[in-house]
Amino acid sequence: MTTRRVAIWQNGAARTVGPDEPVVTAFDQGLGRGDGAFESVLVAGGRTPHLDAHLARLHRSARLMELTDPEDDAVRALVAAAVADWPADVEGVCRVFLTRGLGEGTPPTLLALLAAVPAETLRQRDEGVSVVSLSLGIPADFRATAPWLLGGAKTLSYAVNMAAQRHAHAAGADDVVFTSLEGRLLEGPTSTVVWAAGGRLHTPPVETGILAGTTQARLFARAQADDWPTAVTPGTVEDLRAADAVWLLSGIRGAATVTRLDGVERGDAGLSQRVRELLAR
Ligand code: PLP
Repeated sequence: MTTRRVAIWQNGAARTVGPDEPVVTAFDQGLGRGDGAFESVLVAGGRTPHLDAHLARLHRSARLMELTDPEDDAVRALVAAAVADWPADVEGVCRVFLTRGLGEGTPPTLLALLAAVPAETLRQRDEGVSVVSLSLGIPADFRATAPWLLGGAKTLSYAVNMAAQRHAHAAGADDVVFTSLEGRLLEGPTSTVVWAAGGRLHTPPVETGILAGTTQARLFARAQADDWPTAVTPGTVEDLRAADAVWLLSGIRGAATVTRLDGVERGDAGLSQRVRELLAR
């Protein structure tokens, strides 16, 4: 049975509950304030091959947000409970949520949801995405000096990210590349920007406050091992226009080739195949 799954960590153990059963109180700070962190973990072949990288980032988010950091074993048990018996031929997305619970001094809320990867996500993985660039209005160097802005944490507060995607949809595009106040490249609302130019793969610096992408890290490690040099580069939208290829990378959608940027069609110089092969290794 695919459908939807829910697992919750309570009293030191993971247990699954019916998808329509209540699992958090209405007073949870994650609901009322978006005060929590999350991870979206790919389930493929009934397994979670990249869970370790997501665990590491969940810990980083917890540290940056001063949330009670769960043990690795708790998160692993929770994900295992959600994923148990998931059919090997259905790709899934397992979302792990960690919230501040009822507030200071109370246990955090830790739960996992599992559902099939949406058909539209699979389509974008195969066919690519049209993208618009939108300014986030923050100087590129500011978040490194402003810990209260939670740069680098994957917080539950994604309302702006979702609004940016709706804005893109209204403009006839699929997705967004955020830029800084000065026009420097940041990231997508749910993805890391990577481009190929001058025989190298490039991605913007995490010092801008963007999320460190687990998929980008995996791609760069494998590209380097395959003699494809990589660089952290503070680029602009102009660099994306001039690039041989541009991708939006994320764990669930994989490498989505950018086929249109701000209304202008663009190609991938045949490089997407190599990127996909590297990610699939
Ligand atoms: N940047 C943001 C803002 C994201 O939400 C995501 C997706 O989780 C990413 C980048 C890509 O991260 P990953 O490759 O770990 O999925």
